Amino acid sequence: MQIAVIGTGYVGLVTATVFADLGNDVIAVDVNEEKVRGLKAGKMPFYEPGMEEMVTRNHADGRLDFTSDTAEAVQRSEVIFICVDTPPKADGSSDLSHVEAAAKAIARAMNGPKVVVNKSTVPVGTGDLVGRIIEAHKPPQYTFEVVSNPEFLREGSAIADSLHPDRIIIGASNPQATMKLIELYAPLERQMLICDVASAEIIKYASNSFLATKISFINAIANLCEKVGADVGQVVKGMGADRRISAEFLSPGLGFGGSCFPKDTLSILRVSEKYGCKFGIVEAALEVNQARAQLFVARMERILGSLTGKTIGLLGLSFKPDTDDLREAKSLEIIELLLARGATVRAYDPVAMEKAKDLLGGKITLCDTPYQLVEGCDAVAIITEWNEFKQLNLERMHALMKQPVVFDGRNIYPPERMAKFGFKYYSVGRPEPA
Ligand code: NAD
Repeated sequence: MQIAVIGTGYVGLVTATVFADLGNDVIAVDVNEEKVRGLKAGKMPFYEPGMEEMVTRNHADGRLDFTSDTAEAVQRSEVIFICVDTPPKADGSSDLSHVEAAAKAIARAMNGPKVVVNKSTVPVGTGDLVGRIIEAHKPPQYTFEVVSNPEFLREGSAIADSLHPDRIIIGASNPQATMKLIELYAPLERQMLICDVASAEIIKYASNSFLATKISFINAIANLCEKVGADVGQVVKGMGADRRISAEFLSPGLGFGGSCFPKDTLSILRVSEKYGCKFGIVEAALEVNQARAQLFVARMERILGSLTGKTIGLLGLSFKPDTDDLREAKSLEIIELLLARGATVRAYDPVAMEKAKDLLGGKITLCDTPYQLVEGCDAVAIITEWNEFKQLNLERMHALMKQPVVFDGRNIYPPERMAKFGFKYYSVGRPEPA
């Protein structure tokens, strides 16, 4: 099938590449010309495991190309995916200006019937909005259909998630458009759920805000465990063994970050308000999440005393492992809180250093290895649960630190092991060392 994908971010590039890999003829468009030039030369705009090989191979085989010319892409395609960013506005509602711009560009370039598929995460009603925009700007003789096909991939496992999704949601009002999407996804042999456009749009927000709430729920339980000397790890085991609950997304820690959960929870709150529905559960989930970094730093202050003049080493900067994405990363909040208290901050991340350099400039010291990082630190804080950190030589780490204090925001070590190596180890929702 001839496909165009608008936007070459995490969702667009992965979608384009996976469809190309399935044998389609795909052209991916981005307004960012530097990104397009880079992609054509085999330079990935972000780190995602397996991405570079798959892009390079499909590009070399001629099934995947890149352009900054939307009209060219639209004209040679029958199905067009909108995968542009939908960032939050200052009031938390979704900024749809990129979706609107993409819809206009598609309309103006139309040279035949088109199926326009929205993959960006958008508030309910956006499918209708896209339809109205295309109707207003297209040549009168051509027809089109708007489909909602929300994306559920996770950064860090984006390719595997796209190849093996739990479900494929197709929200459409037209059977021919639905059939096109079914045909396109058929090779994946996964469950497809067909529904109306509005329901598809809500499924995405409902799923993300539910998962975000689950994370905040266990973090609230972790707070309670800390007060009463219980072990949240045991609690999670006990809760997770219940199939109705499951242990997925039940990991206590610094809370959720990234480009989706914080923005999508806020957006569904704003949409609910607009329609007069109170959504207190999600409000509470956000509140719990917003307090995580502050609680973490307050604990450091309680244990270390004033942080002024102290050196704190952060292991991990990305919002989760296996990605270099720093959007809404907890590390950024923690860095600001530490700097405001007069601490000197050092950091190391296995893949996000390039992005950190651009974003944080000279504010903190970026180190080349975890061992360089811990040298002379008054405390080390684990911010991202990279596998690499689970295998550190703890004896060497202990020897290099000024004082052996570790604050683990992701509970990656067994407390007994840390005690054995002589660390004062403070983790989330677990008893503190004596
Ligand atoms: P991103 O910021 O990584 O990429 C968006 C890309 O679109 C950018 O490269 C930008 O230059 C390009 N763009 C913007 N306007 C354009 C236009 N008019 N024409 C062509 N290109 C344009 O965003 P992302 O993380 O890929 O997210 C895209 C959408 O998918 C968002 O709505 C997001 O909420 C949703 N989503 C993201 C994820 C994720 O894990 N990142 C998962 C599921 C859904």
